[in-house]
Formats: sequence, structure tokens, C-alpha cells
Amino acid sequence: MHTAPTSAADYHNRIDEALHDDFLRRTLDKFAVEYRKSRTDVFQEVDERGLIKQIADAKDYACQHMDELYAQFKSEAEKRGVHVHLAKDAAEARMIIARIARQSNVKYIVKSKSMTAEEIELNPELERQGFVVDETDLGEWIIQLRHEGPSHMVMPAIHLSRYQVADVFQKATGEEQDREDIQRLVKVARVQLRRKFINADMGISGANFAIAENGAIATVTNEGNARMVTTLPRVHVAIAGLDKLIPSLDQALTTLLVLPRNATAQRLTSYVTWMCGANECQSAKGGVKEMHVVFLDNGRREISKDPLFKQIFRCVRCGACANVCPVFRLVGGHKMGYIYIGAIGLILTYFFHGKDKAKYLCQNCIGCESCANVCAGGIELPRLIREIRSRLTAEDGSVPGALMSAAMKNRKIFHSLLKFASFAQKPFTGGTQFQRHLPAIFLGKHSFKALPAIADKAFRDRWPSIAPKVSNPVMRVAIFGGCAQDFVYPEELEAAVKILGAKNVSVEYPMEQTCCGLPLEMMGQRATSKDVAKQNINAFYNGNYDYVVTLCASCASHLKHSYPKLLADDPEMSRKAEFFSEKVIDFSSFIHDKLKLTADDFVNNGEKITYHASCHLCRGLQVKEAPRELIKDAGEYIPCAEEEVCCGFGGTYSAKFPEISAKLLEKKLDNVAATGATTLVVDCPGCVMQLKGGAEKRKMGVTVKHMSELLAEHLKK
Ligand code: SF4
Repeated sequence: MHTAPTSAADYHNRIDEALHDDFLRRTLDKFAVEYRKSRTDVFQEVDERGLIKQIADAKDYACQHMDELYAQFKSEAEKRGVHVHLAKDAAEARMIIARIARQSNVKYIVKSKSMTAEEIELNPELERQGFVVDETDLGEWIIQLRHEGPSHMVMPAIHLSRYQVADVFQKATGEEQDREDIQRLVKVARVQLRRKFINADMGISGANFAIAENGAIATVTNEGNARMVTTLPRVHVAIAGLDKLIPSLDQALTTLLVLPRNATAQRLTSYVTWMCGANECQSAKGGVKEMHVVFLDNGRREISKDPLFKQIFRCVRCGACANVCPVFRLVGGHKMGYIYIGAIGLILTYFFHGKDKAKYLCQNCIGCESCANVCAGGIELPRLIREIRSRLTAEDGSVPGALMSAAMKNRKIFHSLLKFASFAQKPFTGGTQFQRHLPAIFLGKHSFKALPAIADKAFRDRWPSIAPKVSNPVMRVAIFGGCAQDFVYPEELEAAVKILGAKNVSVEYPMEQTCCGLPLEMMGQRATSKDVAKQNINAFYNGNYDYVVTLCASCASHLKHSYPKLLADDPEMSRKAEFFSEKVIDFSSFIHDKLKLTADDFVNNGEKITYHASCHLCRGLQVKEAPRELIKDAGEYIPCAEEEVCCGFGGTYSAKFPEISAKLLEKKLDNVAATGATTLVVDCPGCVMQLKGGAEKRKMGVTVKHMSELLAEHLKK
């Protein structure tokens, strides 16, 4: 039922299949747009960041006290007539549940949705042992009939059309179904499922919360089926990961302010059911339900001791990390996860289902940080995914990137290779900024955009002749160039230098700087990534600069947020990294917030300008207003639909997954074209590369510029 890619080629084939599923694409596209808007609306009335912090703190506490909370829960629940079990792994959990069913003479079992039951692949085992098991959540029932796994943690059948559902129901009931009438189809399900609830001997549910202070569990649902499952049959078994334990009701109530808002953009779900002890039940012997709670360890206690990964237990399974993921939006959950899906799914697959299942899936994160921005538990999802890639690299040398990593470790070799490439490409560029004459055989899936040419002369080689001479400077800054601007778009750095020099800022360009290391992180090359971080810190450390300005949003975010964490195990370098990172600032923020340039500094000629907000700027650095204000100073700003959605570049991602990168670019350029703007401004050379290449390929007639180029052109003399 659940399958994971077995090779890179297999994974690409699966992705192609999803990209050709028009219904899936349309549905997920519509959902992504509506969800984002509705989520923003429902969070207006609460303190989103404050609540997320409270959830994170409470879950961190629970994670540190997992064993104590389990003991307290067990004692309180047993006082209330509940049998509490602890399974060390999936096999033991399946065995315990099957044993309960056998001992209670159960034949028919109904289930409500439970990701933990999916995690242990419970249904096939129960069926193998002769029990009849029916899912009762509508989506889960549909996918059970199709012998599929869920494609979303909250909406398991989101990938299916009403026509596919009608076909499934027709087969299940033997009756003709009206393929157009959704309400009628829902009624068919209701009639079928009611019979199953009445006939069931045992109900199996999950639990959103397991409350230690009173031994209660709770389910949060929209369909009411969990109430039927947990009340009608004479036996109830709830299965929950140990991470569902919390100390008291208060934490559950706080989580309830976020969970439905994040999951489906609802203020509250239709049903929140609290079950405190084995209750009265007419169908049970003696009139009292037989109730069991099975807690699943499956590596949780071990992970709870991992200083970095213990944060995965802040997850409340809201599914929001999938809802906002641009890759999920294109390929769906069956291709963006194994059993658990979305960003957290990639991580949980590694821990709960093994590195062989996670190996290819974990490469498919574009690193846009949308997930971390909405996560109900404030989990550093992109960082954890990068960490897993790094572990996979360490555990299995076949992960790509080793050659590139070896070249990048030595700055001089790396830069010499880039200079050689600049020379070698000449027959293919025709003197333009693009690789115009590359034979199609070399391009293959990468032909969706014009590939950039490496500049004739790198910025570092131009520097001696363009370095501004400033007397009595207002500030001293150093520029961190990054590979793309140093070697591909040096004109972007030159434009910045022109503005800084004109505004009396002293500028330096430390020559020992090299790649920021983010591409290495994305490839899981941790050792070289740390190595280049040290090289960069040392290159800038003794400069006594007021700021280190970078025109690359991805570099800025990585230098600022990742360097101190990467080097945390080296006290001396860690101190230097903190000092360095404090000084790093992106170009727009520097111009707007520090240099305080305003409309008075620029000529506004009414140029129609739209904007693409680079992921690492708007989410990584949370810089939102400065670039838009600066655009308004230079021309007429025309907002673009989905301005903050990824353009599909993602550094090495666009080379690894060109089929996905192409689709993201297509959508972005459609939105840009709809604005009618003649100029598209971007704050990151990676996005420039993607968007300029795409615009050139389409012959869109839109000029793509870095913010520095726009401002330099409009700077008053
Ligand atoms: S990782 Fe965060 S966003 Fe994703 S399901 Fe868990 S709580 Fe929700």
C-alpha cells in the first residue's frame, strides 16, 4: 500500500506521473491559494507567534518528561478503569492490539483516522489475522477501498476527484452512483458507515492529546465518526505516540487555538471529544466499556534525547507544512512523503520508517522555508531536513555532491574552475549573458530556461578599478559577494558599489571570501559547508566593519542564521560566528533602514515595476517592507499575485528536480505577466538567474533586475 522510491530514476518517474495528473494539480493549486488566504484571516484574532511559542515550550517540556508523564497518565487512567500499554515498536503495537481483539472475541472493527495507526501499518496485520477492519473517516474509507495510503495528514483523499470516488463507491456498493452529485455520494458513505458502527465489536481511534493529570485522551475531528468509533462498540482502543502526552488540560486548550486554524483554517473543528476513563456503554458486558490506550515508542524516547531532533515532538500533526509547501502543491503527498507527508513527513520517514525510505524523498525539499513559517510547533523544519541530508551523506556516500564539495573546499581551485568555465563557454554564449548555443542534448529537462553565462571578468577582478575612494565615510561596510554575483552577475555588485560610494559609504571587498556554503548544505556536504563558513568568517573578522552587506538573500540568511549553529561545537569559531553574523545585513534593509535613503534620493519615472519576494528574504530574514518601499521610491509598484511563493530556483534544487523547478517558474512568470509590469525586481541573484532565464526563454518583454540595478539606475546625480 505504501511505497517509497527505490532509486533517483524511480523517484523522477513518480514525480512525472504526478505532474501529468491535471486534476491533482488543479485541486492542490486551488487549495493552496484559498488556504493561505483563509489561514491569514483566522489568525488575525489571536497572537499567532505567542501561541506557537507556548505550544513549543509545552511540548519541549513534555518531551523532556516523557517517561514521567507516561507513568502519571497510566496511574490516573487505570484509576478510571482504562488499560494502558506501552509498545516499544510498530510490531509490538500491532501485536498488543490484535491480542486485545482476540481476547475480547472481536470480529468487526471500525477505525477513526489515526496517523499513528498508519505509522505502524495496523490494518494489514489485523486483516491478516482475520479481523474485518473498516475506516470510517470519509477520506480514509475512500483510500482504504482504493488500497492506498493517505496523501495528506488531515485530508487523506485530497488527491481524488468526485468521479474517482463515485467509481470506488459503485464498486463497494454494487449500485450505480451519480458521479456529479457530491452530497449524494456523501450520503452513500453515511448509510454504509452507519451500519458498520452499529455492527462493530471494537473501535480504534488515535488521540490528539493524552493528558497526564487525569488520564484523559481527546480527539479533534470534523466528521463525528471518531465519536461513533469511541462510543458505540463495546471495546475502544486508542493508539497514540508517546509524544502526544502533555501534563494538563491547559496545554491542550492552547493547542486547540492553533491546530484547526493551521490545519484547515477553521477557528474550531466540529468535534472535540474528551474521554476520561472507561464510560458507560450499553453494548458492553456489565454496561461499562472496555477501554485501552496503547502508547507507541518506536524510537521516540531515544529521539527525545537528541538535542536537535527532539523538536520534532512539537508537531501537532496539523498538516500545515504540506499546505504551504510549493513542492507538495505540485506533486501531492504520495510523492512528498511515505506515510507521514510534507516537511515533517520527510523527517519522520527517516526516523520511523528508515533511511532507505527517506533517502530520495529528503532531497525533494526546495528550502523555501514556507513550512517553518507556519509550523504550529515552531519546528526548524528546513534545518532538520538539511541535517538529515547530511546524515544520509555520512551514512551513504552515494548521495550526489561529493565532487563539487571537494572543489569548493579550496577557494583558489574553485575560483580557478569558474574562471576556466568562463573561458570554455565562449563558443556557446555568442557574447550574450546566456548559453545560447548549447546543444539540446546537454539541456534535456533543463531547457525550460535560458542558462546564464559566466561573466567575462569576475567582480573580484574588477574590484581594484571600481573601488570607490571615500573620504570621511558615514559608515564602513564590507560586501559579501557570493558565487553567483562574483562570477555570474558582477554588474549587480557594481551597481551596489555605485550607490554606496555616492552616499559616502566606505566599501571593501575581502578577497579571501568564498561560497557561503548553502549549496553544500543543500547537498548534505556538512564537513565542507563548515569549512567554507570558517573561511568566510576569518576573511571578514578583523575588518572592523559596521556592516557586512550582501545582495544575495540566500547568502544573507545562511550567514546570519546558520553559521552560529553550524559552528556551535567549536567555542572559538562559534564566538566569532556570532560576532560576524550580527553584522550581516541584506542590501534592501541596509539601504532603507541603515542608510535611510528615501524617495528624495531617486528619480521616479513611473516605471511599472513588480516584485518577487525571495524566500530567504521574506521568510528567512523576515524582510518584507524595505524592498517594496524602495521600489515605490523608484517607480510604480504593481503587486504580483503570490509574490512570496518560491520561483523554483532553490540553488542546486533546480538542477536536481528540473521538472518541478520548471513548473514553479511557469506559475511565477504567469503571475508576473498578469501584472502588466515592464520590470521585475528581485533581491537575490539565484532568483534573478531563474526568472531572467525563464523570461528570456519566453521572450516576455519583461526586464529582470536586481534591486541594486534598479536603484543605481534611478539614483539622483
Ligand atoms: S511539522 Fe508543524 S506544520 Fe507540519 S504537521 Fe507538524 S505542527 Fe503542523
